[in-house]
Amino acid sequence: MGEMPIIDKAKCDGCGLCVSVCACGALKLVEKTVQAIEVDECRWCTLCELVCPNEAISCPFEIIIEND
Ligand code: SF4
Ligand code: SF4
Repeated sequence: MGEMPIIDKAKCDGCGLCVSVCACGALKLVEKTVQAIEVDECRWCTLCELVCPNEAISCPFEIIIEND
């Protein structure tokens, strides 16, 4: 199982922005709170973290691009 973004439910107001930027269908709104549903679908793009206006999402992973 891969790592998923961590959602602080207390900060999430259900705006749905993260769901719309996630191209992988990994996030879903359930009763006005976002949840990480499809763990295997997350491609660690970190867009959900960037787009959230309430800083409710934090991605515990770091993307490292190595050049030859
Ligand atoms: S890191 Fe990217 S793929 Fe994973 S849940 Fe967030 S927006 Fe979706
Ligand atoms: S962008 Fe942030 S506040 Fe909006 S639904 Fe996603 S986690 Fe919640």
